[in-house]
Order: sequence, then C-alpha cells, then structure tokens
Amino acid sequence: MSGWFVLTIVLGVPVGPMARIVMKFGGTSVADLDRIRNVARHVKRETDDGHQVAVVVSAMAGRTNELVSWTREASPLHDAREYDAVVAAGEQVSSGLLAIVLQSMGVNARSWQGWQIPIQTDNAHGAARILDIDGSDLVRRFGEGQVAVVAGFQGIGPDNRIATLGRGGSDTSAVALAAAVEADRCDIYTDVDGVYTTDPRIEPAARRLKKVAFEEMLELASLGAKVLQVRSVELAMVHKVRMFVRSSFDEPDAPGMGDLDNPPGTLICDEDEIVEQEVVTGIAYAKDEAQISLRRLADRPGVSAAIFGPLSKAHINVDMIVQNISEDGSSTDMTFTVPSGDMEKSLTVLNDAREAIGFDVVQSESGLAKISVIGIGMRSHAGVAATAFQALADKGINIKAITTSEIKISILIDGPYAELAVRTLHSVYGLDKT
Ligand code: ASP
Ligand code: MG
Repeated sequence: MSGWFVLTIVLGVPVGPMARIVMKFGGTSVADLDRIRNVARHVKRETDDGHQVAVVVSAMAGRTNELVSWTREASPLHDAREYDAVVAAGEQVSSGLLAIVLQSMGVNARSWQGWQIPIQTDNAHGAARILDIDGSDLVRRFGEGQVAVVAGFQGIGPDNRIATLGRGGSDTSAVALAAAVEADRCDIYTDVDGVYTTDPRIEPAARRLKKVAFEEMLELASLGAKVLQVRSVELAMVHKVRMFVRSSFDEPDAPGMGDLDNPPGTLICDEDEIVEQEVVTGIAYAKDEAQISLRRLADRPGVSAAIFGPLSKAHINVDMIVQNISEDGSSTDMTFTVPSGDMEKSLTVLNDAREAIGFDVVQSESGLAKISVIGIGMRSHAGVAATAFQALADKGINIKAITTSEIKISILIDGPYAELAVRTLHSVYGLDKT
C-alpha cells in the first residue's frame, strides 16, 4: 500500500477519483422535513467522498397540485404568467429548506431559483422549454466547495418573468443542468429503485435493469413505465447525459451507495456503453386505449391529412396508426388508437370533418390495452415478433392491431387480457431469468 493512501486515510481526506454529480430529488423524496434530512444525508455522502455536487429538487409531494388548484379556483381562465408565479413557489420552498438542513450538517450549501442561475427558457408559460443555462458560475462555486441547491421545474423567460416547464419538469431541469456543467452523471432519486423489465406489480419476477439505452427508455417511459418525464430522456439523449435512476428511500450510508461505478439503480446511457445487449429489454403496457376505425375511406392523396389534421388541432394524441393497402384501388380502411378519455371527442371531430374525409362508417371500441416489447437488440435479431405472436396465441389472446418500429413491437388487445399478456411476454423472452 502506498504511503499516500495511508496518509489520506489518516487525514480523513477522500480516496478515489472525484466526479461531478447532479442529484435530483422528486416530490416524495422531499415530502416533509424528515425526508429532506434524509436527502441531505445522501448529498453529504457524495460531498464527503470529495465529489462536486449540484442538487435539483421538486416541490414537496402534493404541493404543486395544491398550487395549481388555487390558480383554478382564483379564476378558471387565468393568465399563464401568473400561473407560473404561483406554481413555481413549491420548489422555492423545498430548495431553501434543503439548503438550511445541509448547512446545519456542515455542508456549504446555497439555494438557487431558476432566475438566479439563470435558467433561460422560451415564452411558453406553463410549458416552457429551456433555451440556455450558463453553468460557469456554478462551476466556479464547485471549485470553492459549494453545493448548489437548484429549484427544479422553473426558469426565466425572455419577458423577464418566471416560467415553469410543465408538470414533472424538474427531471428536465436536472438533465439540462447536468449538460450545462458537464456532469459525469445525473442521478434521479425517486421512490422506486430503478427501471424494471416490466411493472413488478403485474409480474413479481420483474428484474431491475442495470443499463437501459436512451432510445429504449424513451419507449419505456412513454409506454407506462412512469419513472421519468419523457422530455428529460430526450434531452439526455441529445446531450449524452448519463442518467441514473435510484431510490432516495435506500439508507444513505448503506454499503455501496457511494460506489462511483456501480451504485444500486439503473443507468440510462448511450447504447455504445451497453456491451451485452439483450434482444428484448422490457415489456411496457398502456391500459385505457381506444380504437377507432374508418371504413371504406377514399384511397386518394390527402385523406390521412384530412383525418389527422383536425384531430391534432383538437390536441388529441393519436398513437398506433394502421392503414391497409386497398384491394380495388378506390377505398381503404384506417385504424388508429387514442386514450379512452379522448374517444368521444375524436368521434365528434371525425363526424364534423366527415365530408372532407369521405368515409362510409366509423367504428370504435374503448377499454383496450397496448402491450409493447422493447429492445435495441431487435434490430439485429430475426423472429422476435413471431415469438410474441405465438406466445399470445398459446394463451388464446386475440391480437387486434400490430405496429412495429426498429426497436419495438406494439400489440393491441382486449383490456382484460393486459396482465396475462405482459406476464406471458415477460417470460417468453426470458426476462424473469438473471
Ligand atoms: N413540482 C412539479 C410537479 O409536480 C415538478 C416536478 O415535480 O418535477 O409537476
Ligand atoms: Mg416528478
């Protein structure tokens, strides 16, 4: 053992490489002062190890909902700039409280609101996008050993007013900040301990994944694995920010928690970093889907635009779209899915546009489920889809529609079969085996 190593132990100086880490804590992680103290211990563990740390916090659990409901009660039709002034307040409180607790534990911490950094956004109040973050002051303060506690979910618009990023936006704040300061990792602390092969409430044999590629996570996140705001993953993919999903409910000082290379949780990273690619990474599902079919539709240029234009204007989020090749060159069928809650509205929009579209009948059904098999390994493996179809057939589950992409197969089925289908597919691809 080198003399240097022994000396550093004696002086209590941290051993090992220094990293720059952004730590993000969601609402349940800062729900009350006890939870905030627990968060502070996670932060102190990293600073004690000699790492440079910036923290991003959400509002205490339930606070943002309360603030939103006050703005509605005050006036249903309110100014979006004043909505932002109100709802950004939750993060102001949690960031200040965490800074106070950290200081009381001897950590040199300081809170920052979005406008103070500044986190510059566009003018879309209530759903603003981050345009730029100047990380230089934060980096200088890292050098002085200061921990920045940054209010998530907020920035400042070109009109010099507070702007919020849309619900769940502090994940995006954290990733943007990590990109701005070129952090080694953006740790997202939440109430689950990682990303699983499927929902463990449906399949108890679901396993925590060690690594997930950005593209896979985008599919998993938008298809029901509600761990991360989808936009934050998009941003991380663009800037190659390594995100790490882990639990704030793990004991802060448990063995391995501060392990730089292999802490407990799931790394979301570039696919190049994933050496051993599985063919299938996970099974996602979305319940409460509805299917709409337009029968005997004129097969002519512009017909799809005539359908989906009005639906998009009505802010209806269309998901699977299937059009068949027409048999006689004159008429075809179009099927697509929407969330069940949007079905009636969609039918109204379509009937209003009936003349412009030109269809014979419209059929619809709600209460369906979409099950998706996801994996980047699919790109280079044949037979993945056939395996799914056979497994569902063996269980007597009827498939209503199928769509695929390079890394995903989505299957529409009757809602009551959703859980059986998830379990069946999870086991047919061996996801329950380590
Ligand atoms: N507090 C905000 C919300 O509840 C932002 C967040 O938690 O990410 O939507
Ligand atoms: Mg959240």
